[in-house]
Amino acid sequence: MHALVYTGTNKIDFREEKDPIAKAGESLIKVKASGICGSDMHAYHGKDERRIPPLILGHEISGTSLDGKYKNKDVVINPLISCENCNYCKNEREHLCPKRTMIGMSAPIKREGGLAELVSVPEKNILEVPKDLNIKEAALAEPAAVALHAVLLAEQNLKKPLSECKILIQGAGAIGLLCGLILNTEKKSKNIIMSDPNKKRLDNCSKYLSATFVSPEDRLIKNDNFDLILESVGLEITRLQAIKTIAPGGTIVHIGLTQPSGTFNFKKLTIQEITLVGTYCYTNKDFNTTVNILTSKKLGDLGWVEYRDLKKGSEAFEEIHNGTCVSPKIILIP
Ligand SMILES: [Zn+2]
Ligand SMILES: [Zn+2]
Repeated sequence: MHALVYTGTNKIDFREEKDPIAKAGESLIKVKASGICGSDMHAYHGKDERRIPPLILGHEISGTSLDGKYKNKDVVINPLISCENCNYCKNEREHLCPKRTMIGMSAPIKREGGLAELVSVPEKNILEVPKDLNIKEAALAEPAAVALHAVLLAEQNLKKPLSECKILIQGAGAIGLLCGLILNTEKKSKNIIMSDPNKKRLDNCSKYLSATFVSPEDRLIKNDNFDLILESVGLEITRLQAIKTIAPGGTIVHIGLTQPSGTFNFKKLTIQEITLVGTYCYTNKDFNTTVNILTSKKLGDLGWVEYRDLKKGSEAFEEIHNGTCVSPKIILIP
């Protein structure tokens, strides 16, 4: 098969690889669409110790099952593989399972990803694509589940309904945009500011999201102002802005992880009773809900997604890396 292989820092090769062989309980998927995730970019930059080259990246996958229970059916993959036996798994928090693994990662178990013509996945991680959901759009289920989980965590921690909150979304990438779309459509939030240094990205997002679009230095990002901040960047500088601009009693949801550590204003966190919540992946329930949201077309026009040929994948990684890519999401088609 052909695959995009991460071979070293800033190196992705489109090349011939051995076809995967499905193990017991697994099915072989003929990939129809496979998205590039921020975490794949993190690996590309050589900064992810869980993704070691050579490795086929990619975990936002839809396709056709070639065998097993879903033979010849269009399917979407939930790439998070959990043990099903621990307390987390038994209480609908599979994403925190200590034995969890992920497709397209090297650790704790090496599993080749979906930026390829074929991928082998556990049958329990396969969902049938409803007939009203376009197979290519189904690949969005994974990043949309990340966003849904973040919004639901925000909702659990806030002291007032999301529809009444003043919201700042830092970062106009796929996760920031999807959080905004879920807030607009599922939670009726209209008072949203989205910030990003990339003006072209913001212009692109402004066609789909009901919000105000500003640079991170804009005077609309006032101190002690927002009830909720969705931090989808994860830099020290964006975290510092989040704590500065959150209103007393507000909630910061930390989604991005570009810089895993740095300084932070714990004084304000403490004396203004700020809630700071980390969010990671999604539960199985979130993933299923997301497939339903996409099927019902509730997120509106998905014209912001750019589809490209898998063959051209290394150029796509390069463009995302050097900031010339204006699409919040690129999905590759084998
Ligand atoms: Zn992802
Ligand atoms: Zn478990």
